[in-house]
Amino acid sequence: MCEWGELLSEISACTKCVLHRSRRNPVPGEGSRSAQVMFIGEAPGAREDETGRPFIGAAGQLLTQLMESIKLQRDSTYITNVVKCRPPSNRDPSDDEIAACLPYLIKQIMLVKPQLIVTLGRHSSRTIYELAGLKWVSMAKQHGKPIEVSIASIRTTVIATYHPASALYNPNLRKLIEDDFRNAIARVISREKESKRTLLDYL
Ligand code: SF4
Repeated sequence: MCEWGELLSEISACTKCVLHRSRRNPVPGEGSRSAQVMFIGEAPGAREDETGRPFIGAAGQLLTQLMESIKLQRDSTYITNVVKCRPPSNRDPSDDEIAACLPYLIKQIMLVKPQLIVTLGRHSSRTIYELAGLKWVSMAKQHGKPIEVSIASIRTTVIATYHPASALYNPNLRKLIEDDFRNAIARVISREKESKRTLLDYL
């Protein structure tokens, strides 16, 4: 079995934390396995738990719109969450649950090797910052700021932004997340495209 196959079957059978007891389906993630951009949310919600697919409810529709606003095709990206099973009543995942699930996320980053990781929400942002050996302070202070990091020996850029679910009914947060997409995220994507083009010019 290939590494992706092994990873997906491990997640399907996983009982490493209590979330396996209440889940209907684990939600490992989906998208291009060679994506330039990886989005990492916090945890699956009700629709995701029903279907086994990430970001397909209202927050997912907003995420798709935000991607389209910067001409990023959703299926060219890889989308996943810090924890792969739904916490009951959509509560926040606990530190123990995040720690138990983290090896799957690290493996996904190692396999996809994204040039840009966009963390959606504070749990995901804190987890990725700490994985990169950085201090997480707050979303208000750190959103929309590209940082160069190394995670599991993969050099990449991380940008933290608000979770789309938090922006659904809050126009102020929606404006902030839209600005992060239009400015920081679009800029890093075009910088990466440009550097690839320049490299190809030399070959
Ligand atoms: S959340 Fe992660 S660690 Fe917990 S049971 Fe699901 S796959 Fe396993």
